[in-house]
Amino acid sequence: MAEKKKVWCVADSACALGEGILWDPTRGRLYWFDIQRAQMCSCAADGADFFRVDLPRRISAAALAKNGLFAVAADYGFGVYSPQQNRFRRWREIAPGATDMRTNDGRADPHGAFWFGTMENTETAPAGAIYRVSPNEKVRLKIPNITIPNAIAFSPAGDAMYWTDSPEQTIWRCDLSPRGDISNRRVFASLRGKPQVPDGAIVDAMGFLWNAEWDGGRVVRYAPDGGVDRVVNLPVSRPTCPVFGGQELSVIYVSSAREGLTVAELREQPQAGGVFAFNAPPGSAPPVFG
Ligand code: BGC
Ligand code: CA
Repeated sequence: MAEKKKVWCVADSACALGEGILWDPTRGRLYWFDIQRAQMCSCAADGADFFRVDLPRRISAAALAKNGLFAVAADYGFGVYSPQQNRFRRWREIAPGATDMRTNDGRADPHGAFWFGTMENTETAPAGAIYRVSPNEKVRLKIPNITIPNAIAFSPAGDAMYWTDSPEQTIWRCDLSPRGDISNRRVFASLRGKPQVPDGAIVDAMGFLWNAEWDGGRVVRYAPDGGVDRVVNLPVSRPTCPVFGGQELSVIYVSSAREGLTVAELREQPQAGGVFAFNAPPGSAPPVFG
């Protein structure tokens, strides 16, 4: 089932934990985050004009917001960040002083809300949760007891939300209302018994979900009924997050991680931590928070 698809390396950014890749159509740039190093990387769609900056907080996920700003999950809270000034305009801590927690996956939904997950740094206890930030910036806990929140993604019509708790190896699908109520949770896809875990995900314009598989070295496209439609193999084992980008939104870009790989594994995948790309059926325009 694995396709021989052309995959290319867009940026050899060697991130320890590259995450939260975002396409900004206005600037024509990709942005992604090295969570543990508190850095942001950016380049054009073809990899040109790469830069990396140290961030004031450890951003893990971002969405476009109004006026060129980003809504972000960072450290242990939610913020509005200016990539131009590398400065936070607003900042809301979830639990001030909690040092053992951080944020992870996140995305905006088509109704203008931003969703993000939190987790314990050791990745062992279900101490995290998924939160929803309403367009007027009210932060509400929506799904508790999560160890590693991932695969937060939305159908183009905004009537379905997907998510996973990675160690459970199950991608869930819920009905979503415009106000952010989630209901009717059911198994969308299960990887139980397999060596890989579901990581970040995004839904294309046809409603198919693309999921990056950590320790699977691939991105899997699922039909809306949960059946596997396509598999794209990558030259790295730990892809973390896919996003549609490029002028036509017809390229999938995937961030990846180096952390936890042995010296021997790194020798075999020297570009681990980079961003990879392949052509795909188009995605929808990235939703804007607020
Ligand atoms: C997290 C990592 C985690 C991985 C696999 C990523 O989204 O950022 O910390 O190890 O998922 O579950
Ligand atoms: Ca992730």
